[in-house]
Amino acid sequence: MYIDSHAHIFFEDYKTDRDDVLQRAQDAGIECIIVPGTNVETSKEALELSEKYDFIYACVGFHPHDASKANDETLREIEELSKHKKVVGIGEIGLDFHYDFSPRQQQIEVFEQQIHIAIRRNLPIVVHTRESMAESIAVVEKALASDGTWREQYHNEHSRYSTPKGVFHCFTGDAQQAWQLLEMGFYVSYPGIVTFKNSPVIETLKDIGYDHILLETDSPYLAPAPLRGKRNEPSNIPLIANKIAEIFRASTEDVARITSYNAKKLFGIEPMDSPRIIYKLRNSLYLNITIRCNADCVFCDRKGEAVIKGYNLKIEHEPTSQEVIQAISDPTKYDEIVFCGYGEPTIRLDVIKEVATWVKEHGGKVRLNTDGHGNIINNRNIVPELAGLVDSVSISLNSIDPKQYGELMRVDGERFHKAMVEFARECKKYIPEVTMTVIGMDEIEKEKAKQFVEKEIGVAFRVRPYF
Ligand code: SF4
Ligand SMILES: [Zn+2]
Repeated sequence: MYIDSHAHIFFEDYKTDRDDVLQRAQDAGIECIIVPGTNVETSKEALELSEKYDFIYACVGFHPHDASKANDETLREIEELSKHKKVVGIGEIGLDFHYDFSPRQQQIEVFEQQIHIAIRRNLPIVVHTRESMAESIAVVEKALASDGTWREQYHNEHSRYSTPKGVFHCFTGDAQQAWQLLEMGFYVSYPGIVTFKNSPVIETLKDIGYDHILLETDSPYLAPAPLRGKRNEPSNIPLIANKIAEIFRASTEDVARITSYNAKKLFGIEPMDSPRIIYKLRNSLYLNITIRCNADCVFCDRKGEAVIKGYNLKIEHEPTSQEVIQAISDPTKYDEIVFCGYGEPTIRLDVIKEVATWVKEHGGKVRLNTDGHGNIINNRNIVPELAGLVDSVSISLNSIDPKQYGELMRVDGERFHKAMVEFARECKKYIPEVTMTVIGMDEIEKEKAKQFVEKEIGVAFRVRPYF
């Protein structure tokens, strides 16, 4: 299921066949469509559509093209409209210095005023920029500095992620600007432009990955290839998702699920995913057997939302071995079966052993992702017990410095670091493939870690993405 996070289906372009367009969208698996207004009239039209169709949600606001129509009264009207239950954001708002249909100074003022409406209403913003990326980011930064509470009030105090503040739609900025926005709590969204030949946005997209983006058609504009130049419509979203999946060698389902999760989180649309004991990424099946952990890493969202790639892993009950086995059903359908959730699997060593035995008997491959503390957790050297059951193990090295290790994982650094390294050395004796990983955080000395892992331990090294 997909979400088209930006489609202007109130436009005249759809006057004669709007119902067909919306039916085609639903047939193509479009779960929701977000329709942003561009002034008071079209905001009302977006709202009318949202009243008529359950799966349509509206945003209200003045597009920079229409900034000259905005005044105290019309902005008050936008704020009133924003109280409607189907309004999920303020937009589209922003700056357009390409066409300059409204004077630039006025565009900036109206943009600022509308961000303040969003702040008062605790809604996200949908931002349009054209030849004005740096200026738009500056306006948003200034507004954020003036009110740091925006979108923080629903923020789960345990989560390291705050409630997202908005989306820069049809994003054409560079990678540095994209990262700046992601760190400020924004998403960026990609329309059909990614499908165009030699599209410059692809470089940025490759840099930031697909974990923090939304999909949009920007209908009726920007129809994706091979429909370029034609009227666009929400049912074309899969063409964009396919292209992004191709770029990242991911599955289209992964792209659809992650981007839908992001859109729902941003716009506050229910229902979110229900907790999973198994989840599929690319062609591997992951097992989420516990959410308990002996550590409490600063970069881990286990106590927050516990979402990985759009999957909700916040299980309330730990599954039995039988439940996991039933859920796997046929291990040969996957490249590998991986013990990996928002918890330390070796806390449930018996389940690992039972499930892995069954997977091996049924022709599957098994991987264990672990913090390497299993010997302390279980009070014995557990590695020989995994021989023959686990084909590969990935151990979080996190840091080669025990002090930093302790700070990152909020454990006794000396004791646990030593145990983890010892665990890795044991794995090398008993498990065919061993990898040690660090997170791509700036403060981690990755090169030194690589040397240590490859030279001193003699196993493979990998950097896990951070953010
Ligand atoms: S060891 Fe893994 S599950 Fe445990 S807190 Fe750290 S990142 Fe989270
Ligand atoms: Zn638009």
